[in-house]
Formats: sequence, structure tokens, C-alpha cells
Amino acid sequence: IIRIRGLKKSYGVHTVLNGIDFDVAPSQVVVVIGPSGSGKSTFLRCCNGLEQPEGGTIDICGHRLVDQGVMLKESALNALRTEVGMVFQSFNLFPHLSVLHNITLGPRKLRGVSQQDAEAAALALLEKVGLAHKAQAMPASLSGGQKQRVAIARALAMRPRVMLFDEPTSALDPELVGEVLQVMKMLASEGMTMVVVTHEMGFAKEVADVVVVMDGGVIVETGTPQTIFSSPTQPRTRAFLQAVL
Ligand code: ATP
Ligand code: MG
Repeated sequence: IIRIRGLKKSYGVHTVLNGIDFDVAPSQVVVVIGPSGSGKSTFLRCCNGLEQPEGGTIDICGHRLVDQGVMLKESALNALRTEVGMVFQSFNLFPHLSVLHNITLGPRKLRGVSQQDAEAAALALLEKVGLAHKAQAMPASLSGGQKQRVAIARALAMRPRVMLFDEPTSALDPELVGEVLQVMKMLASEGMTMVVVTHEMGFAKEVADVVVVMDGGVIVETGTPQTIFSSPTQPRTRAFLQAVL
């Protein structure tokens, strides 16, 4: 469902992604780990057209998003973005809209869903993330964990085929991390295709089908959680794991 070859991205003279090859099969959960500045966020942002790479090819959800460094036109990007959901560290909810309105906005504006249908779907999603009672609340009144669960519900409301998560629990107080990981585990068990950048090694061990280690703009190692955590072959993987575990 995702196939990336030779992805390259620089900021000025600084090369951030230096030839990334990456595949994700339907219903796979791929966890991306690696040191700060290794290019993980840039990589995810390339996958849904938030960054323009200079080289490489990205096929995602049946769209050729990037063809040898040339990106799809803006009009086609919008179609792709409805199929690729993204959740950020910083939630990015619309502060002036209620929880329900945050979730219904995308389906109404971008998918042409009626208000009634959008609200019914949003309430079902809120139920699923354990926040049905917060439908009318404003984002400012929610805890970080609740905000992130709303952000996940909002992304799911677009009925994406792939979900990208960029450190979804890094901004949370430790006691709120679990409730967000719980929702992500549920999604994984339902067969959602997911790419997750995280420092939660427990989640990686338990949920990932594949763990990808990035360092210095390249993928240094790819393997099952078992292999990566128990017998990594690359010195840079070992160094990173020693630093975080
Ligand atoms: P972290 O774990 O800290 O989130 P990361 O692996 O997500 O790190 P990126 O955010 O992708 O790393 O950044 C990779 C490199 O690209 C860093 O050196 C960063 O300074 C640089 N970079 C990222 N965004 C920009 C930008 N908009 N302009 C210039 N440099 C950038
Ligand atoms: Mg990052």
C-alpha cells in the first residue's frame, strides 16, 4: 500500500533524507525509530505531500505521489490526503471549534458528507476512542490524552486507508500515554495500516510487524521487533537502543 524508492530531501545544503526505500503492506504496522534529527518527521511528511522531495518515487494508496522527484499536482494531492490520515505530536485541533465540529469538518468540506451523516459517524468514532461524552466540549477543556484521541478520531473520520503517526504521545504527561497507545493498539488489531514514529519501545515490541531504524537520513536496519530489540546487526541500531532503553 506504500512503496518508496530512493527518496531524497534536502533543506538547502543539508541532506535530510538520503535515499530511502520503504514498503508497507496492507494492515501492516511499521514503527520507525531513530535519534533526534535523523529525518523521521520529514519522512512522514513526504508520505502525505506536506514536503516536496528532490528525488525518488512514492506510491501510496494507488497514487504516484512523487515520480522521480516530481510531485503530484495540488488538485490530486487533496484526494490523496483524504486517504492518508496524519496525527501529530501537537494534536493540532481547531481551538475555536467543538470536539464534534473538529471531527465533522473534514468529511463535510472534503468528502461532501451531509452534516447529519458526518455527526453520526463522528459520534461513533468518539464512542470508539472513549470520548462520546465530550462531543460538545471545546478542545481547551480537554486533557492532552483526550485531545490526542480526538485528533485520532478526526483523522479516522476521513476513512483513511493508511494512518501516519508522528510521536503521538511525546507531548503527553506520562500517565496519559497509555490511553492513546490503547486506541492505537485497537486500530492495529482492526487491521488499519499504520506507520508510527515513536519512542515508545514497548509499543514497538508489542504492536509492530516491522521496526525501521533511521539515522542520518537513511534506514540503517529493518526487521521484526524481535530481531531489532534482541539481536540488531547494525552498530548504529545498538547505539541508539543503548541510549533509549
Ligand atoms: P525528532 O526525533 O527530534 O523529531 P526527526 O527524526 O523527526 O527528529 P526531522 O524533524 O525530520 O527529524 O529533521 C531532520 C533534520 O532536518 C534536522 O536536522 C532538522 O534540523 C532539519 N529540518 C527539519 N525541518 C526543516 C526545515 N523546515 N528547514 C530546515 N531544516 C529542517
Ligand atoms: Mg520528528
